[in-house]
Amino acid sequence: MKDIFSLKGRVALVTGGSRGIGAMIVQGLLEHGCSRVYITARKAMQCDAAAKELSMYGECISIPGDISTQAGIEKLAGEIAQREERLDILVNNAGLETSTAFAVEDEREIRTVARVNLEVPMLLTRHALPGMIARNSGHIVFVSSLAGTAGFPGMSVYGATKAGILNFVNGLSRELKSTKVNITVLSPGPVDTGMWDVIEDKTSTIRNVVKRFQRLQLIPTADPVKLAIRTVDAVAANKPFVRDPKRLSLNFWLNHAPTRIANFAI
Ligand code: NAP
Repeated sequence: MKDIFSLKGRVALVTGGSRGIGAMIVQGLLEHGCSRVYITARKAMQCDAAAKELSMYGECISIPGDISTQAGIEKLAGEIAQREERLDILVNNAGLETSTAFAVEDEREIRTVARVNLEVPMLLTRHALPGMIARNSGHIVFVSSLAGTAGFPGMSVYGATKAGILNFVNGLSRELKSTKVNITVLSPGPVDTGMWDVIEDKTSTIRNVVKRFQRLQLIPTADPVKLAIRTVDAVAANKPFVRDPKRLSLNFWLNHAPTRIANFAI
């Protein structure tokens, strides 16, 4: 039985907290009593405006910047370290989609997506983790995707990064097993945000695949508000997974089966 993790008085960082799922998670964290939530995003005006709007739920501070660069990561980590004695919750939410056939994918985009979706969550975790381990308290959220458990045409780069997150967490969870630093992985199918609008708008193979799945009613589009509520509840309850849609639970369960076997053996 896992301990609960009271959110009262916690300090959190939500990357990509300016809109979509991230902004909803910020709202949920503040509503559950976090004392301060920092958000970051590249578009400074949107980031500042979101922080102002989210401040109706509690203290939300904008630190705009591009976390795909080393300078951006250091600025973010440095500014928080200057203001706070500790960071209790890290939500690695910022992400970029790809929905282009790989043969014509832009090389720079491949690197940026791989960096923002996979490398940056690892680097920010590397910054936050020593303090959490020293205090024996903390929670880290990662955002994977249904596309991290199965391959979709046009989403090979995106899917690779999201699968990478899942396996990174599999290893890290084992390292943290004897601590009170816990992890939640959010793995949704389509979510009704700007990112999904971009994918749906593409006149490519991905669009036909999505339509087929939707006809089979396999991947309904999730409400970001409901998903954020489930995620914040999972943080407070120290639950390791938030998976959506629930009707694809078997898919997620099968995908995690090798890790369960390894965990049993180790
Ligand atoms: P979204 O609406 O596009 O929001 C993405 C957020 O990330 C924005 O705040 C964006 O702000 C920020 N961001 C992107 N690149 C950044 C960078 N280099 N530095 C700093 N901030 C950056 O996306 P969403 O749908 O809420 O997605 C949130 C997470 O859920 C992502 O990890 C995504 O992969 C995952 N997910 C989404 C879906 C879906 O269907 N929507 C499904 C499964 C998983 P700026 O543009 O201003 O930088």
